[in-house]
Amino acid sequence: MVDLQKITADFEDRLKVLSAKVDEIEEDLREPSDPDFAEHATEAEGDEVLEGLEGTALLEIAQIKAALGRIEDGVYGECATCGEPVGEKRLAVIPHAAQCISCASK
Ligand SMILES: [Zn+2]
Repeated sequence: MVDLQKITADFEDRLKVLSAKVDEIEEDLREPSDPDFAEHATEAEGDEVLEGLEGTALLEIAQIKAALGRIEDGVYGECATCGEPVGEKRLAVIPHAAQCISCASK
């Protein structure tokens, strides 16, 4: 039996953590670049890494919001593609999984 209340609470906690992380990254990215050229090169690389991290966090936020929407619609745990159960084991590992393992691996 899937405990939707617990899952919703976990998702909300995770969203808070992720939003805080995105805010932090945004702040780092906004920091003025060092005028020294050599420093500037490494800083640009650091910015790329930060943008990558931000992208990952934003993607997870979108997936979690979609999963919260599925909980609301009463279709959480059903594969968005084939309608079969996603499976409790898979949801335990990836609670925001929208597809069963066979659709996700296609
Ligand atoms: Zn499926």
